This record gives sequence, structure tokens and C-alpha cells, in this order.
Amino acid sequence: MNEKYPFELEKLPYGYDALEPVIDKQTMEIHHDKHHQAYVDNLNKLLADKPEMQGQTLEELMKSEVQAIKNNAGGVWNHNFYWQEMIKPDNGHITDLLLTKLEKNFESVDKFMEQFEKQALGRFGSGWAWLVEKGDGSLEIMSTANQDNPLDLGLIPLLGIDVWEHAYYLKYQNRRGEYVKAWWQVVNWDFVEKGLK
Ligand code: MN
Repeated sequence: MNEKYPFELEKLPYGYDALEPVIDKQTMEIHHDKHHQAYVDNLNKLLADKPEMQGQTLEELMKSEVQAIKNNAGGVWNHNFYWQEMIKPDNGHITDLLLTKLEKNFESVDKFMEQFEKQALGRFGSGWAWLVEKGDGSLEIMSTANQDNPLDLGLIPLLGIDVWEHAYYLKYQNRRGEYVKAWWQVVNWDFVEKGLK
């Protein structure tokens, strides 16, 4: 994720239909090929006449004071992360180290999921809900607006759900809660654990 200008769209690590029936093929096609591609294209356009910024990594660009650069760099990073943290339904299980951490920080996996869902549903408009690791190794649940990212606050994202309507509307329409609950089936817990310090 530390490549530089000109940015390229990362390929999906699986087929468009791999996450069926939780996330349908058409949603994946539009989400990846249109929405994610647009963030890549917009970011490249914004940087085309700014040679002084072309050496910056995506993570540096996400901190830009130019709002459009920040938004589009965040859009590229967040979607790269989103594709990687998912796996074919019911192929992931919570690994021991992560389980211990979740229980320590949230009492139980159920309570963790409950709080995460609450943040995902409570995010007004477009944005993301996240499980993050703080500098002291503790875990926290939060949400961000638009394409903002916990890295902005010095927090390490471990898991993030896209709750922009484009992520679920074709299949779930206005029922964001159904999407969020179904989404647990496609979480790649190995990926989440690998993010721990
Ligand atoms: Mn999205």
C-alpha cells in the first residue's frame, strides 16, 4: 500500500462472486471497478500538476491539507484494505491471540460485535466503522466520516467496514443493519490478527 504516483487499481484477491451471498457479484463489480477506480483516477488527476507531491506515499497523501487529495487517497487506501480483510463466507475464524485481545478489551466477542455494529449503524451518512489498535496495545471501536481513516489519529486500523450506501444498497437497499450483521461471515480474521503489533 506504499506505492506512489501514478497509482494503480489493486486487483481483487478473489473473484467478484467470491463473497456471495453476503456481498453480491454486481455490488463487487461496481464497487471495485467503478467506485474504487474513481478514487484512483481522481487522485492521479489531482497529482498530475503537483510534481512536489508525486513522491508521497498513499499514507502521506491521506494526511494532505488539500481536502480532495485527502479524500481520494483515503478512498484508495480504505478500499485496498477492505478487499483484503474479506474472505469467502464462513472460511475465517477468530484466532487465539485475537480472541484473547477481544475478550480482554470488550469482555466477549459478542460484546465486541455489538459495539462494532452500533458504530456502523450510528455513522450518519457515509463512512466506516473500525476496530483499531492504540499505541498502548489496547483495542477500540470507532467510526469515521467519508474516507477518513484512523491513521489520521495515530490509531492502527485492524478491521473496517464500508458503510457507504454503494457497499450494500443493491442487495440490502436501506437495510444497513442486515448488511453489517451478514458481513461477519466474510471477515478474514487471520488478516485482522496480522495487523496487531
Ligand atoms: Mn466503498
